[in-house]
Amino acid sequence: MTHAHPAPGSHELVEAARATLAAGGVQWTELRAQIFAVLVESAHAVSAYDVSEQVSFRMGRRIAANSVYRILDLFVTHNLAKRVESRNAYVANVHPACRHDCIFLVCEACGGIEHLDDDRLGAEMRARAADLGFLAKRPALELIGQCRRCRGL
Ligand SMILES: [Zn+2]
Ligand SMILES: [Zn+2]
Repeated sequence: MTHAHPAPGSHELVEAARATLAAGGVQWTELRAQIFAVLVESAHAVSAYDVSEQVSFRMGRRIAANSVYRILDLFVTHNLAKRVESRNAYVANVHPACRHDCIFLVCEACGGIEHLDDDRLGAEMRARAADLGFLAKRPALELIGQCRRCRGL
């Protein structure tokens, strides 16, 4: 079934992310907080390289893209961030307390990312794959197109 999540303000989202990480036994460090803030404040999906540039600027010291990549990976594992495969980039997960196979709507005009959740679609894909003996770890569900704003709607 589709199910809606209230659009969280950035403060609520940071609190939810911090709580989710703590529940997974992972510390909320200054660097992790800064990286998450970059994701939350960006309207677009951001690459590990872009995140490291922005975080280096915020923190006033060089943060290697490798360290950022590891933390983004940790965020994905703990459901704080999602990877947008077609962009090779990351977005903050707006529902860190809730697991979904998120479906991303990627605007090729402005680069904006929206997302919707429909658990029937994800479950159906996983079930069809299982019928073929395939163990699905995570789907990459994306629609490439034009967003409402770019279409002038
Ligand atoms: Zn979702
Ligand atoms: Zn757009």
